Amino acid sequence: MAKFYVDRSLPKMVARITAKSVLNRHRKRDGWFLDDYSINPYSGCAFGCVYCYTRGSRYEARGAGGVAAKVNSPQLLSRQLRRRARKAEHGFIAVSTATEAYQFAEKELKLTRRLLNVILAYRFPVHIITKSELVLRDLDLLAKIDERAILPEELESLKHGAIITFSLSTLDKKLARIFEPGAPEPERRLRAMRRCGEEGFLTGAAFIPVLPYLSDLEESLEEMIASAKEFGARYVFVGALTLFGSTPESCRGRYFKVVERNFPKLLADCRRMYKTAMPPGYQRRLDAVARRLCRRHGVRYRIF
Ligand code: SF4
Repeated sequence: MAKFYVDRSLPKMVARITAKSVLNRHRKRDGWFLDDYSINPYSGCAFGCVYCYTRGSRYEARGAGGVAAKVNSPQLLSRQLRRRARKAEHGFIAVSTATEAYQFAEKELKLTRRLLNVILAYRFPVHIITKSELVLRDLDLLAKIDERAILPEELESLKHGAIITFSLSTLDKKLARIFEPGAPEPERRLRAMRRCGEEGFLTGAAFIPVLPYLSDLEESLEEMIASAKEFGARYVFVGALTLFGSTPESCRGRYFKVVERNFPKLLADCRRMYKTAMPPGYQRRLDAVARRLCRRHGVRYRIF
């Protein structure tokens, strides 16, 4: 039996809700993920990552840990994309930014799959960001999107209408079990990434967030970047942890609790480091190390 502490407050029930809107238009294109839009087919997430920034932030629509499926989202998206397509406002749609589009409920509900059908019909490009190999189920649709999507002029050189990014915070199975208790283990994500690469997709790994003192050390970063390359990543992201909120249920509260239970010697350092949601200069330091390691291992740092 595992001796470490795992937060077992994973949601088991999925509520059905009707949403008012599903397509979010960003004021500015995201510099990392290149999306102009985002959609979230679910509210909340059953993977229950301890560091999930939606806990304690404005994205926490379902309270601590609930999951709801936005059952009318395909119809809503169709209406919203029709208007955007008429005005030729094609841009990458990130799926998803505040939930996991391929969490357990998706296997049965196929909500994300229905949304991809709508995206394909209006020829929008899509950027899937996921921790789940369930995305492989939809490679047939994604291949059509990849080929037929209309790219914004500045991104035409990408030559891909579908980008698939696998998100990881560590390669260590035990650490992943502690910090991402409901998510498929890291190696399964890497294997899914390899398959996406073999099928010709633009695919890569987002090591976001890396875990302070646990997976953000240079040797861990090097192992992650080398493995990403080995499993076919064309690009890599490395991103810092952000800790929002102040309640015990917020990501800040949960994160410190899990560190205290599993790595008590690190608690004081983590608290000192995280006086604010994001320590000043931390992302810059990670960028410098990651860029150097990416050069060493011959993989691109970020997509562009
Ligand atoms: S998979 Fe993503 S959305 Fe789901 S809990 Fe983890 S970080 Fe949050």
